[in-house]
Amino acid sequence: MEKWQCTKCEYIYDPEEGDFENDIEPGTLFEDLPDEWVCPDCGARKNQFTPYEGNEVDEFHYEESDEEPEDENS
Ligand SMILES: [Zn+2]
Repeated sequence: MEKWQCTKCEYIYDPEEGDFENDIEPGTLFEDLPDEWVCPDCGARKNQFTPYEGNEVDEFHYEESDEEPEDENS
């Protein structure tokens, strides 16, 4: 799912987490947020957000690797 970042304060909306403070349930896509939803950190409106290109290391990058992740060989 696509993350969106606030251009004002760099808050990142993660659809997998939703927005606890605004009663947005986990799994809610950014485009499905109500129009009155605003950034929980700075109050910016949805049109102040931009799609976030994940620079952080996460599982997605492991899948791009040629090498398979280690299995649990115990
Ligand atoms: Zn913000």
